[in-house]
Amino acid sequence: MLRLVLLLCVVWLGTSASAAPVLPFALQDADRVFLDASVRYVEDPQGNLTLDDVRRPDTAWQQNDSHAFKQGYNASAWWLHLQIANTGRQPEERVLELSYAVLDYVDVYVYSGATQLQSYRMGDRYPYHERPLDNRFFVVPLNWDAGQTLDIYYRIKTSSSVQAPLALWQNDAYTSFESNSNLLQGFYYGAMVVIVVYNLLIFFMLWERAYFYYVGFVLSMPLFMAAFSGQGFRYLWPESVSWNDHAIPIFLASSLMFGALFTRRFLRLSRLSNRLDKMLLTFVILGGVMLVVAPFMPYHVTIKLLIPIGLFACIADMIAGVVAWHRGVATARYYCIAWGSFLIGSIVLALNKLNVLPSNWFTEYSVQFGAVLEAVLLSFAMAERINVERKLRYEAQSDALQVTRRLNEELEQRVQARTQELEKANRKLEELSNTDQLTGLNNRRFLETVLHEEWTRCKRYGHPLSLILLDIDFFKKVNDVYGHQAGDTCLQLVAQRISASTRWPSDRVARYGGEEFCMVLPETDADGAATVAERIRDAVAAEPVVVDGKSLRVTVSLGVYTAAPGDERGVEQLVHCADLALYASKENGRNRVTPFSQIDVHNVASLPVRKRT
Ligand code: GH3
Ligand code: MG
Ligand code: MG
Repeated sequence: MLRLVLLLCVVWLGTSASAAPVLPFALQDADRVFLDASVRYVEDPQGNLTLDDVRRPDTAWQQNDSHAFKQGYNASAWWLHLQIANTGRQPEERVLELSYAVLDYVDVYVYSGATQLQSYRMGDRYPYHERPLDNRFFVVPLNWDAGQTLDIYYRIKTSSSVQAPLALWQNDAYTSFESNSNLLQGFYYGAMVVIVVYNLLIFFMLWERAYFYYVGFVLSMPLFMAAFSGQGFRYLWPESVSWNDHAIPIFLASSLMFGALFTRRFLRLSRLSNRLDKMLLTFVILGGVMLVVAPFMPYHVTIKLLIPIGLFACIADMIAGVVAWHRGVATARYYCIAWGSFLIGSIVLALNKLNVLPSNWFTEYSVQFGAVLEAVLLSFAMAERINVERKLRYEAQSDALQVTRRLNEELEQRVQARTQELEKANRKLEELSNTDQLTGLNNRRFLETVLHEEWTRCKRYGHPLSLILLDIDFFKKVNDVYGHQAGDTCLQLVAQRISASTRWPSDRVARYGGEEFCMVLPETDADGAATVAERIRDAVAAEPVVVDGKSLRVTVSLGVYTAAPGDERGVEQLVHCADLALYASKENGRNRVTPFSQIDVHNVASLPVRKRT
């Protein structure tokens, strides 16, 4: 964008140095000779002078200086005159090139003395195919006989700025210059097409607007260049004379608009500076408006509006880049370097046109080099942007992952804690369901389960198992005399004494119901069981229990059954046997231990089943 502005500034720059008339110009052997200093001109403000008028001797020709003939924007017709002599002894051929592509009307007349040899009608208001030579510039072939002098007249009228850089070329040199030039131009347009296609594909993949704007910008620039350099008219729209007239402002406006759109989006200006963002938005709007009105307005009006708009838009784009770089936007660095390469390319061309730098491939095509470099760098910048965004996305993802992991861990810990609590509660519940509330001993349910297990185990290993059943003597009386509450306390105290009398952890004590208790003694034979039973009886009877400050003498009766290996009785029968032994203790005076073996087994079946309380 900058480069167009500079180009157009160059176009506007006039020079004041004046050189002495050099007439006629003598043909030289050089490949290219600039004829600017040999040009005479006359202005025709009304545009009504004829060829005959200007060929009159009294025409007030003015001498052009050593720079290309330039008159800026005006409505005049301009007549140019060159006189070129072949001072040699051989006929000569040359091509005469006017290397400014956007002139509307360029009429050329070639005279030898009073005789008109050729006349050509060129300019981009005439269809391209009418040109004498197929060239984007206005080029005519010239032939001299030995010693012949030719007078060449140009009549130029245009709505673009009036410029006529003139050079005389050796035919061969011009052909090779043209092919090199086309190669370079082809490289430039090819590179731009690749960049456009590449970014368009990325746009379709990512659906990110920055790419669309960039494509718009990179597409507008070479189209503007093509229109401005005559390549567009030559290759793209050779018959569309009126379109050709508007192509330059249209593509200039669209590159301004897309350039500003791209800059805003790419640098994310709205986050950086509201003021800068608004400023660029203004250029987007101005570019858009110009794009819409350009086809309907005269070229000289739109171009005069677009040059200052473009200049300020370029400055704003560059400021935005520098500010973004300064504020630490990573990709702004590429942006600035890209824009800078554009700028340098444009400055080099400007200096070339101002004759400060010599004319060579680099200086003549510096703008194209700059443009390709710029487009490539911006493509890098776009790729970098994807990288940066992917990195940010990755970081965000890994942050989220970490948070999820932490939450999972927390959740797991909580679940674990809850599970432990639940297990504890379950254990408690099980304990409660296995525990007798009053005495804190195991209850009957638990005892029966244990008895079942132990009996199965003892049978498998061939070990004995003993069972003690115990009942408090005359307990009813305790209740009757001291009350039920005291009876409960008494029960608790007796339970403690029983519990304290068991020594082995494998011995289990349970409240079997009412004031009856039961003990399972695995791997304990009859003697052992009798010892334990005796110890219990003694522990209860030895001292009175103290309830509410009163001493109560309490005794217990015990029945012991020892199941030997090979005993095929079931659990209920084991209890029943112990119960029978207990019954015998009661019968025989209480406060005693009766092993089942001591009762009359033959009468067992006839013994009454004790009433359970
Ligand atoms: P013996 O066993 O010596 O034949 O006479 P006993 O008076 O102890 O008679 P039995 O075993 O038949 O009576 C048991 C009594 O124990 C019945 C009931 O009043 C009392 N009892 C049973 N369970 C409880 C209890 O949980 N708390 C209280 N306070 N008394 C209970
Ligand atoms: Mg009793
Ligand atoms: Mg009882």
